[in-house]
Amino acid sequence: MQTYEDSEPIVRIRDLKKDRVNFVLENVDLAFANSIRRVVQADIPTVAIDMVEIEANTTVLPDEFLAHRLGMVPLVSVNCDEAIRYSRDCTCLTGCQYCSIELRLDVSCHDNKTMEVTSNHLEVIPPTMGEHDGLPGEELTKRGEDFGYPVGKNDPATPPVLICKIRKGQELKLRCVAKKGIAKEHAKWSPCSAVAFEYDPYNKLRHTTHWFEADERAEWPLGENAKEEDPPRDDESFDFNAKPRKFYFEVETDGSLGPQEVMMRGLAELQTKLANLILGLKAPPDIDMMNGGDSGMQPVSGNPPGGGWAGGSMSPTAAGWGNASPQRNTGGWGNASPAQNASGWGNTSPAQNAGGWGNTSPAHNAGGWGNTSPAQNAGGWGSSTSPNTSAGGSGSAWGTGGQQGWGSPHANGWNV
Ligand SMILES: [Zn+2]
Repeated sequence: MQTYEDSEPIVRIRDLKKDRVNFVLENVDLAFANSIRRVVQADIPTVAIDMVEIEANTTVLPDEFLAHRLGMVPLVSVNCDEAIRYSRDCTCLTGCQYCSIELRLDVSCHDNKTMEVTSNHLEVIPPTMGEHDGLPGEELTKRGEDFGYPVGKNDPATPPVLICKIRKGQELKLRCVAKKGIAKEHAKWSPCSAVAFEYDPYNKLRHTTHWFEADERAEWPLGENAKEEDPPRDDESFDFNAKPRKFYFEVETDGSLGPQEVMMRGLAELQTKLANLILGLKAPPDIDMMNGGDSGMQPVSGNPPGGGWAGGSMSPTAAGWGNASPQRNTGGWGNASPAQNASGWGNTSPAQNAGGWGNTSPAHNAGGWGNTSPAQNAGGWGSSTSPNTSAGGSGSAWGTGGQQGWGSPHANGWNV
């Protein structure tokens, strides 16, 4: 059977409009396709109103109700990566032109008919140099003319967002500050209003069960995507090894970003996340530098050290999770350390060191996860079962209530 591993990924764009794209992604893993879906929904930065100061509100809606509605108004966020900073990365005190966009709304009704207050009434205040601005940067030059404007403000073809309705004598006056953020923090920062994602339109893989009363095919009509695939034959047996390899996407944006920018940024974000994962699994560059040398640890006497995560048994090689280390080496997950070294996950500590996950303890020390406790004890996370006193010996571990490891009440434990 052909699988996605046999060929290169293919993207075929079926339809591209100003605010949506429909495409077919082939020859990739389900996990990869789903990662793209999740990343475009939750991880692409945009700007949205994050703070509202109400000066006057005599409308029927309470202040917090209006503040929430204002937060959901999509604002043009093209080139958000370079055009604005996160507030947390800015050196200003309370917000400045490099990390915030100010908008104002000042509407009152003097007629006898109901007036609609919409996103078109929001006015963007041009940035001005402030006393407490953050460090000067390139951000302002990277902004388009309408950066931070409500989507469709200067476009008669795009209907505005209704904020509230007011009658004669009522008014609404407020100041808003829009900030950069991602939808993982709050959905108002999502550039996508909908991401449709389908695979296996005939349900050949049986990843779902169709509930029906009489006739499954009549009650579950096929969608457009079914035209892309061959219908199952009546005599076709179920292939339990089959995997999905063709995915149908429709990404619809709220106008803050275009669909092309959303997809390209999504892919870049996914790459960055994977690169960070790879880097995170590697050891820090120089553990001894970070550790600051020996801090009063006692040496392990005689015994080869032992203990990694879930390790600490079977002297002299006490192995942890995924360990494939040579004789006299006790290792943890992903360990590749040299002989006589017992290390944990990602550990690259020097020889004769038995460490746990993320351990940075110096030589001659045998520790558990994050452990910096003294020696003669080589324990790993979850290890306390070894009967001998060499590698992995009497070492206590996470939750064992002994002298080492996370959860230990005295003298040891968290203080890495
Ligand atoms: Zn700032």
